[in-house]
Amino acid sequence: MFHKNHYTAMKKILLICLTLLGISCSTRPVLQLTYQPFTGKLRHTFAISTYSRDTTPIVLTQISYGDYVGYGEAALPQYLRETQESVCDFLEKAVPVIAQYRPDEMEQALEAVKAIAPDNRAAKAAIDIALHDLYGKIQGKPLWQIWNINPENTPYTCYTIGYDASDSVVLAKIVEADWAHILKVKLGRSEQEDKRMITLIRQCTDKPVYVDANQGWPDKEYALEMILWLQEHGVVMIEQPMAKENMPDHRWLTERSPLPIIADEACQQLSDVEQLKGVYDGINIKLMKCGGLGEARKMISLARELGMQVMIGCMTETSAGISAAATLSPLVDYADLDGNVLIGNDPYEGVLLQDGRQTLTTLPGTGCHIR
Ligand code: MG
Repeated sequence: MFHKNHYTAMKKILLICLTLLGISCSTRPVLQLTYQPFTGKLRHTFAISTYSRDTTPIVLTQISYGDYVGYGEAALPQYLRETQESVCDFLEKAVPVIAQYRPDEMEQALEAVKAIAPDNRAAKAAIDIALHDLYGKIQGKPLWQIWNINPENTPYTCYTIGYDASDSVVLAKIVEADWAHILKVKLGRSEQEDKRMITLIRQCTDKPVYVDANQGWPDKEYALEMILWLQEHGVVMIEQPMAKENMPDHRWLTERSPLPIIADEACQQLSDVEQLKGVYDGINIKLMKCGGLGEARKMISLARELGMQVMIGCMTETSAGISAAATLSPLVDYADLDGNVLIGNDPYEGVLLQDGRQTLTTLPGTGCHIR
């Protein structure tokens, strides 16, 4: 039997002979994945119904092929249950897997990455985004052009006003959101606090408002009463009113609510979408929840087939993640892509915030590049 060690020894001898003859065997570049943990510094303390924070953990990824580099990231809010450590562990395993493929084998490479371990969807998104960006850069075309997406149709992005106990802090945030045509406010505390936030906004502006209760409302009757009050105060959409597990009460609420009800925490990935028809009016897709652009595109198609509305959202992300998500924004009804605006130390530039929209550029890939 021919032993593996014999084969390896023979291969080495052959390589030495070829080298002595001046013949190189390694002319083809390989896909090279590198990564580094990064701490995003928030411009304001960010609070939702369950916690608050000043920084946000991220892992930045680069995938290079020859002179081309694609940029991605995993943005990791606490509730996602992935950490910088778990993402780096996953990426370490992905390095040799990625290296086996060429950029035009992106689909196969992403399937192989998926097979490394279940879940780890932010880590998978960090690879998916970088690989898509790289693919576009090698093609010399923006992804929206490769996918026949009309860049003129980017919706206004909302800007999120987090909860704060101080009126003056909330008012300062509303002033800072002057550029935004739509505001989003995080509710789901007490009735008094929720109404105080809306009243403060209405003292300053009559802009349309999206409300995200982040599962904070206790029951369906309370939620419906709040929604009727919110509608009178210019709110136009409600995200995740109650606990994500509570499907029957969300169905009851969606049947009665005058405002569209959108699933966020209840909708993580493609396999969640079908069961949400009738339970919610629409879904909020985030690259970090679903594992990247490939899965997100499938979710948009399925939601449309089911007659559901679509929102594209984000975590607190750099311009690597936001530029990727913005590529799909012309296909959706609501965009919540203010993540890079919330960060004070974004290492990248990509989409351009113009007249309240994350505007797609003609740069190749996602359009992301180092500042
Ligand atoms: Mg949400």
